[in-house]
Amino acid sequence: MIRMASVDKYFGSLHVLREIDLEVPKGQVVVVLGPSGSGKSTLCRAINRLEPINTGVIEVDGKPLPDEGRELAELRAEVGMVFQSFNLFAHKTILENVMLAPVKVRKQPAAEARKAAQQLLERVGIASQADKYPAQLSGGQQQRAAIARALAMRPKVMLFDEPTSALDPEMVQEVLDVMTSLAADGMTMLVVTHEMGFARKAAHRVLFMSDGEVVEDSTPESFFTAPKTTRAKDFLGKIL
Ligand code: ATP
Ligand code: MG
Repeated sequence: MIRMASVDKYFGSLHVLREIDLEVPKGQVVVVLGPSGSGKSTLCRAINRLEPINTGVIEVDGKPLPDEGRELAELRAEVGMVFQSFNLFAHKTILENVMLAPVKVRKQPAAEARKAAQQLLERVGIASQADKYPAQLSGGQQQRAAIARALAMRPKVMLFDEPTSALDPEMVQEVLDVMTSLAADGMTMLVVTHEMGFARKAAHRVLFMSDGEVVEDSTPESFFTAPKTTRAKDFLGKIL
């Protein structure tokens, strides 16, 4: 579903993605771990072309990433992304936030989009908040709305970049629960997170990044019990 081959990315002289080779099959849940500055966000952003790469190939569902225009918009529709900050439109209700892209980009009739949006809000457990504005919701509710908004485009892949890092601790679990249920439904997911419980429980695979490289690629079980590199051992020593 996602394929990266020999991908390099520089910011000026800083080499932030080094020769990344990665294949994520359909339905796989991949958790990306690594210290700050190791390139995790850049990796995510490269996959929906929020960051252009310097060399290499990235394909989503067998197609290389388009550079611009309508094709790029279509790619972005297929690759849902959820960030640390919720990025909801402040002047629109939660329901309107979820309906917006299907109506604007997919030209879905409003009544149909509304119905689908209501179902999605139900799925993420905030149906009762549909007519409120983002500022009236808790952080956890806003992030669940952001997930519903991404799902409204029926993406083939979901990318999450530290979706719970900005949340108060008591709201983390409700967002992880939504993500766990998506994973159980077979969604292909790439998740940057420091939530080790989620990594252990929901991930099929853990990637550990350091200095722009994927230095470990294994099952959660073997990563947490027997990390192979000193860098991963040091990292786990600090966070566990
Ligand atoms: P964190 O855990 O702190 O979110 P990360 O693993 O997501 O870190 P990235 O945000 O991908 O790391 O950054 C990788 C490197 O690229 C860092 O050294 C960062 O300073 C640098 N970088 C990121 N974005 C830019 C940019 N727009 N311009 C210049 N350098 C950047
Ligand atoms: Mg980051």
